Amino acid sequence: MSGDETAPRSGGAPGGSRRPATGPSRPPVALLSGAGISTDSGIPDYRGPNGVWRRDPEAEKLVTHHHYVNDPEIRRRAWRVRLTGPARHARPNAAHRAIVDLERAGVPVRVITQNVDGLHQAAGLPDRKVLELHGTARLFECVDCGARGPMADALSRVEAGEEDPPCTLCSGILKSATVMFGQSLDREVLGRAVAVAAASGVFVAVGTSLRVQPAASLARIAAEAGARLIIVNAEPTPYDALADEVIREPIGRALPALLADLTASTPDGTAPTGRE
Ligand SMILES: [Zn+2]
Repeated sequence: MSGDETAPRSGGAPGGSRRPATGPSRPPVALLSGAGISTDSGIPDYRGPNGVWRRDPEAEKLVTHHHYVNDPEIRRRAWRVRLTGPARHARPNAAHRAIVDLERAGVPVRVITQNVDGLHQAAGLPDRKVLELHGTARLFECVDCGARGPMADALSRVEAGEEDPPCTLCSGILKSATVMFGQSLDREVLGRAVAVAAASGVFVAVGTSLRVQPAASLARIAAEAGARLIIVNAEPTPYDALADEVIREPIGRALPALLADLTASTPDGTAPTGRE
């Protein structure tokens, strides 16, 4: 399944940045995850350059802030999609679980995700270790007063017959707590993501085309700060030439294998060291 152009799984390119993992301050592992990590959970790529929303202008309106807040019919359709779409009952897959295993093995890990499905946390990763660049669909929020609550509560109201449930506090418009098209990323979350990328010893970009900014630039920030950059993605990305390692195998297999290798090659990990 690996392409001919795939870079060898080298132990570090010449002049590469692989750091000796010694002492108590082991290099933290940062992962940037995109839609590709969740496709095994049945969630299609919505937001990417070739995603569902970009290919379907009518679908894109459902997640475009201007249309959403100004058109009740758009909101009614959006709530129906939230109620019946695949994301509602999606479960984490082997790739999500492999990241949790890495964390539980004692390796410092942070996840920066472009996904809004909450599957990293559903797999068992603590909330504080996940930076959600595009917000979360696990919560609703009020456009007017900012109130938030579990999406499940709002969907119960839709199921009970409210086609466009208003805020119970201020009667304002409710939406998912995600960053819609036409909205800016949360600057604080983005700032923390930049700091995580810059401090990482290993930066793994998984299931992302690395074509959506500013998320993609995190790979460059990490590499320029000296991280070992590993890209796990089915398709080539603009950052492949910058990477120490490019893996094109299916994520559900490739990521668990890669992270097991990282655990084993990290001092104080549960697996024996002495590789290479
Ligand atoms: Zn409100």
